[in-house]
Amino acid sequence: MDKAKTFRPKTILLWQKVADDPEAQRIIELFPSADVRVIKQQINPTLPKMSLSQALLAGKRTLMIGATSSFVGNFDGWLGSNIRCCPYYKLVPVSNGCPYYCTYCYLAFVYRKYSPFIKNNINYDTMFRQIRKTMANSHGKISFNMGEMLDSLALDHITGLTKILIPFFSGFSNGFLMLLTKSSNVDNLLAVESNSNTIVSWSLNAQQIIRQYELGTADLD
Ligand code: SF4
Repeated sequence: MDKAKTFRPKTILLWQKVADDPEAQRIIELFPSADVRVIKQQINPTLPKMSLSQALLAGKRTLMIGATSSFVGNFDGWLGSNIRCCPYYKLVPVSNGCPYYCTYCYLAFVYRKYSPFIKNNINYDTMFRQIRKTMANSHGKISFNMGEMLDSLALDHITGLTKILIPFFSGFSNGFLMLLTKSSNVDNLLAVESNSNTIVSWSLNAQQIIRQYELGTADLD
């Protein structure tokens, strides 16, 4: 069963520079029982001491509301001298992972020690500006992959990102939004008008594998 909508952060780390932002306040109001801590720095915020396994679990129950100066990153496709994927731009309004517990998730193991939290970057004006600039400087069709540092839909009922990004991308002829997900959290997706500039890609496994290794994600059905 998809646990996305049961996500309730126990702790919200609120970066002081966005503390008065209406978007930050809107998210905080969704979780009245969360312990909201204002933090001075986003990198290595002061956190209680914990073991790696505690950090792994805490990271799934802690939401940081912050900002970034780098929403868009370039992946040139090269994975080694003789391995090449299709190049794309990664789009990172949310990072460090998601509320699911896939046992193989590299994000959990990379970030748990130094960044045991899911981070939502809410300075979306910067995001739109960077997407526009990237498209203006590119030739041909380009894709923005919003599934590299997160599950694209797992927190969409909280962030509402599909409701703003899908209409935004409809205005371009050469830019595509790629959503990669294991989630059935599709209410927003169904509510927006469809267009040919968004590609939704579900990662599907056999039900036994989902049950054993992709804990909390949507059932195959
Ligand atoms: S859905 Fe993706 S980001 Fe979330 S736990 Fe699984 S592998 Fe990690």
